Amino acid sequence: MDFSLTEEQRAIRDLARTFAREELIPGCAGFDRLPDGADAFPWELVERGSKLGFNALAVPEKYGGSGANVLTQCIVIEELSAGEPAVSKVYSHNWKALFGLMAIASEEQVKRVVPGFLEDPRYCISIGITEPNSGSDNSLPFSGTLSAGPMLTAVRKGSDYVLNGTKQFIAMGAQAKFMTIYARTDRSVPWTEGTSGFMLFPPKDGFEVGRLHDKVGLRLYPQHDLLFNDCRIPESDLLGKENEVHEGRRSVTNIGTLEATSTALGIARRAYEESLEYARNRVQGGKPIIEHHLISSLLLEMFTRLEASRTMMWRSACSIDNGGNDDPKLARATKVMTVESLQYIARHAVEIWGGMGVMKEAPMEKLYRDAIQLFHMGNTNQVNMLKAISDL
Ligand SMILES: Cc1cc2nc3c(=O)[nH]c(=O)nc-3n(C[C@H](O)[C@H](O)[C@H](O)COP(=O)(O)OP(=O)(O)OC[C@H]3O[C@@H](n4cnc5c(N)ncnc54)[C@H](O)[C@@H]3O)c2cc1C
Repeated sequence: MDFSLTEEQRAIRDLARTFAREELIPGCAGFDRLPDGADAFPWELVERGSKLGFNALAVPEKYGGSGANVLTQCIVIEELSAGEPAVSKVYSHNWKALFGLMAIASEEQVKRVVPGFLEDPRYCISIGITEPNSGSDNSLPFSGTLSAGPMLTAVRKGSDYVLNGTKQFIAMGAQAKFMTIYARTDRSVPWTEGTSGFMLFPPKDGFEVGRLHDKVGLRLYPQHDLLFNDCRIPESDLLGKENEVHEGRRSVTNIGTLEATSTALGIARRAYEESLEYARNRVQGGKPIIEHHLISSLLLEMFTRLEASRTMMWRSACSIDNGGNDDPKLARATKVMTVESLQYIARHAVEIWGGMGVMKEAPMEKLYRDAIQLFHMGNTNQVNMLKAISDL
């Protein structure tokens, strides 16, 4: 495998790195401490990044975007996440949502979303799958039970579907201008065979954004409940065919898994770099702490895990870019490994920073809080392991 980047990839990586260092880090620091995450949505920075080309980066050229491949997307997500993962997530979540849409929607439906998306630097998209009683179940295709999977119902009435139920933890639920909603259209079969996708353009009668969840980390990246009470969606907004959303979604799962992986990698890299810098400057026992063997060993272990995770991520991304004919468990194994690397690196970064590591004036405590969010995004480690095991 050739690890050299193209000129375009180096240029967009450098642009993302500069934006992250010069604008995201200083611009977002204060938002994280606001009591309500809703106050903290950094619209100006999101708009600025869109104008630099990040929101349109992954949109295929045939729809007017930059058509960046998966490796380029991962590289950019790593850079932006090393600045502020919440802002990076806005773009990468939009890309993931658009790939999901393109996998199941008709051409006409895609064209109802993409032009508006490209014109509006603040455009956000939500994906509504998780519910209070169905989380991991939505990713594990249990065939033996009808009680797993989405329970929000969509019942056909005339030329409409009527939706009732609640979605939970939906990213950018209050900010989204477009949403894809998963709803059960047939309860007599397992969810994988009885669930459909719907387009929703808020505001809409019968649809309401519920509470904002107050998280410990990634506080600028909000999650809301979505409430459906006799919400009528026209049949023209059914995505693809009834009951077939699961099949369509499967084709883009690996892209979503790598999206979360590269977010994790960006946070891990920042934690490592901040620790290295601190260890070079902090003097104890008459010398920089990096010269104390236990500290330099820790830093080497952090570096090794970071590089191993990145190597696997690039390899997984290249396998998708080269036609996806590679091992299906690769992306899932990469995400599990990278999230574990992130926890190791963030934890030891807090240690290397000593008492200052837990002080809010220093960067480590936020990185540590952000790190644990990655356990649950892009599927949990257990779900990714179960799915990878089934491909052994
Ligand atoms: C920051 C953030 C953003 C999110 N954004 C979105 C979004 O935009 N849209 C959306 O739809 N959802 C979103 N989610 C929800 C996310 O997808 C779920 O939290 C995740 O799928 C886990 O579901 P759960 O929280 O219900 O946990 P559960 O499924 O209840 O899992 C609890 C624990 O049990 C384990 N477990 C569950 N089933 C099994 C099993 N069969 N075998 C072994 N272990 C198992 C899990 O791995 C986990 O450790 C978001 C979550 C977070 C934290």
